[in-house]
Amino acid sequence: MSESSFQVRRPVVRAFHPRFLSNAAKHVRAGGHAVIRATPSWYLLLPCDDDGDMPELAAWALLDLQIEKSARVKDGPAKGLVKARVTRVLRGIVEGWIERDATQPESSTVITLDCLACGACCRENDVVLEKEDLARWREAGREDLLDAKYLRARKRKLKLLPSGACVHLGAGNACGIYEVRPDNCRAFPAGSECCLFARDEAGLTTA
Ligand code: SF4
Ligand code: SF4
Repeated sequence: MSESSFQVRRPVVRAFHPRFLSNAAKHVRAGGHAVIRATPSWYLLLPCDDDGDMPELAAWALLDLQIEKSARVKDGPAKGLVKARVTRVLRGIVEGWIERDATQPESSTVITLDCLACGACCRENDVVLEKEDLARWREAGREDLLDAKYLRARKRKLKLLPSGACVHLGAGNACGIYEVRPDNCRAFPAGSECCLFARDEAGLTTA
């Protein structure tokens, strides 16, 4: 492992027939994500704590699918978990997750990542700057980052190069401003479905 690499435990995605809802709920409670292939609609079954908050990687699975509606299951073996409908157009994506994880023996798995050697999510993205980012740059004496050559959209977003890479993505795929990178870059969760998708698109294997 390199100095900047780290490990993340991520959920394993598994499909279940609605008849086996108890097994699906058990899988989710053990750290996995379940896809219930019900008729007529498939749905995702995701973890949730007593306050109704989902773990970050579960929330980002919904974000990746652009699913805005979800609800707590009110009764039965999955009571308390979160249920979200998977429309037909999203089935292909979810099938890909299931296929990817088909050989995973447990409900979750540990993967090793190194953002400074990856940079897959630093391409074709849309990093909106917050006022906290500007304050951080000023405090760090990096007013140069406010120069128009690094910004677009009336200085509200980071510029992309013609290649699609963020203007700050350096050699070896390392972020050139990692210590002072914007909040929206920090918020992107390593090990999420969005991260795995970006890595897959970049031809990177994840183990
Ligand atoms: S795609 Fe994932 S591993 Fe790669 S830089 Fe982004 S968060 Fe890190
Ligand atoms: S600022 Fe750094 S972390 Fe954020 S998109 Fe650009 S290269 Fe990636």
